[in-house]
Amino acid sequence: MRIRKTTEPIQCHNCQRYGHYAASCQHRKTCLRCAGHHALADCPTPRDEPRCANCSRHHIASYKGCSRYQRALEEQKKKDAQKTRPAQGNRSVPAPRPDKPNSTSFCSPQTSDLQKKHDEAMKKIEERHQLELEAIRLQHQATIEKIEEANTQLFHQLREDTTTQINEMKGRIIHFLGDVLHHLIPTN
Ligand SMILES: [Zn+2]
Ligand SMILES: [Zn+2]
Ligand SMILES: [Zn+2]
Repeated sequence: MRIRKTTEPIQCHNCQRYGHYAASCQHRKTCLRCAGHHALADCPTPRDEPRCANCSRHHIASYKGCSRYQRALEEQKKKDAQKTRPAQGNRSVPAPRPDKPNSTSFCSPQTSDLQKKHDEAMKKIEERHQLELEAIRLQHQATIEKIEEANTQLFHQLREDTTTQINEMKGRIIHFLGDVLHHLIPTN
C-alpha cells in the first residue's frame, strides 16, 4: 500500500482552480499567466505582468504564495489526516468520508474502489495461475511416471531377452560338449 505524506493540492491545468484534474474539468480554459481564456502558449500578456486566475493578484496561477494555494494546501492536509487514520484498520475498506462529494483527491472512494477491484483481479489471476501451474505439474508428473513405467517394462523385457539368450547359449554349449565327449569316448 502507498504511504503518503502531505500531498500537493491538485491544480487543474485547464482552469487553474484547485481540487480537480483537467481531465474532469468543466470550466473554461484559463491562462496560467493572465487568467484570460486562452492557452498559455497563446498568451499575449508579457511575462512580467501576470494576473492570478484564482485571486487576481500579481502572480501566475501556480504561485505557491497565492492565498488560494495556501487554502488548498490546508484542505489537502486535513484530507490526508482523515485518510491515514482509518486506513490503519483495514486497508481494503475505503474510509468513510464525511466531506463534500465534489472533493477530489488521489484516494477518493472511487480510487480505493478501483484499487480494491485491481487487488481482487490480481488475486484471481494469481489463483488461476496457481491452478494452471498445479495442472502442469500434475501433467508433468503423469508423464514422468509413464516414462518410468515404460523404462521398467523395457528393462524387464531386456532382462528376459538376455536370460533367454544365455539359456539358449548354455543349451548349445552343453549340446556341443556332449558331442565332443561322444566323439572322444566312443561307446563300445
Ligand atoms: Zn479545471
Ligand atoms: Zn494569458
Ligand atoms: Zn493567486
